[in-house]
Amino acid sequence: MYDVKGQLHQVLDALPEGVRLVAISKYHPNEYIEAAYEEGQRIFGESHEQELRQKHETLPKDIEWHFIGHLQTNKVKYIAPYVTMVEAVDSLKLLKEIDKQAAKCGRVIDVLLELHIAEEETKYGLTPDACRQLLADGEWRELSHVRICGLMMMASYVDDEQQIRSEFRLAHSLFDEIKERYFADAPWFCERSWGMSHDYPIAVEEGSTMVRVGTSIFGPRVY
Ligand SMILES: *Cc1c(COP(=O)(O)O)cnc(C)c1O
Repeated sequence: MYDVKGQLHQVLDALPEGVRLVAISKYHPNEYIEAAYEEGQRIFGESHEQELRQKHETLPKDIEWHFIGHLQTNKVKYIAPYVTMVEAVDSLKLLKEIDKQAAKCGRVIDVLLELHIAEEETKYGLTPDACRQLLADGEWRELSHVRICGLMMMASYVDDEQQIRSEFRLAHSLFDEIKERYFADAPWFCERSWGMSHDYPIAVEEGSTMVRVGTSIFGPRVY
């Protein structure tokens, strides 16, 4: 088996205090997750509802599952009973559905708003202006079963360190703007989820509070 424990500690050793690790376990078997769990890791991230459901059912119940992928509204009801955080909320429609399903379970679910800053073409994520607009609309204030805890983003998948850095900086400045305008009195709005295997050291320098690292811990995914 891949040296999950050794790799996990390498990543953990590189993180300053106050930065949490979400171990991205998508496409990796339970044995890999158990190896990390034995070393004390408790936060894991998955991006497919069915895969997450199987893992949730078979793995220890004190694992905190973060849903990091694009979530279809019709899948929300399956993860609402147990998911700890939905990291990639990119529409009011999805936010409202999470609120509705959380209410049915008598829960409040933590979420992050996903920003689309990278130059790559992707359908997902809110542009900075769309993010401002969603918050300005104010409808989110009526949703008492979701708690917006911060922002999440993926930088462009490039080698140009300056470009990656400038994208993280843009996300950080948007975080500060939103924090001041809407969440100044909300201590839970404190998460900046950025940094993956190829760029998490840069992300940490640029104010990440939560890195999402898969490959550097578990090795290449087998799809
Ligand atoms: C897969 C994935 C990651 C982890 O990527 P690695 O390059 O394996 O570290 C992080 N964030 C999101 C949203 C992902 O889909």
